[in-house]
Amino acid sequence: MLDTTTFKHDLETKLTSIRSALSGIATHNPETDDWEALPVGAESPEPDENDEADVVEEWNERRATVSVLETDYRNLTRALAKIADGSYGLCEVSGEPIEEARLHANPAARTCIAHREDEGNLSL
Ligand SMILES: [Zn+2]
Repeated sequence: MLDTTTFKHDLETKLTSIRSALSGIATHNPETDDWEALPVGAESPEPDENDEADVVEEWNERRATVSVLETDYRNLTRALAKIADGSYGLCEVSGEPIEEARLHANPAARTCIAHREDEGNLSL
């Protein structure tokens, strides 16, 4: 039986830092558990054209950052939910136990090493 104590602590620590990174640039919808990027530059009243281009660029960067962080957020909350329901550490493709070394490297891993190529195809 896998001892999840260390993994749980690690996941919670990571989740806290992801949440604080997201909270500065996005808003959380508690109903869907989605994060939406906050608008950029709403605070400047009379933007000239250069500013507008900068705002668009910053907005695109911000959405990309939020999307990456949101994936991490989902992986962490999913892993914590699995610890709670007792299914933590099992490969989502084969149902086999995930190698402990892999979990130490990435406690939010969803598959065993043999199926890591498939991890990107799993639904969010
Ligand atoms: Zn597997």
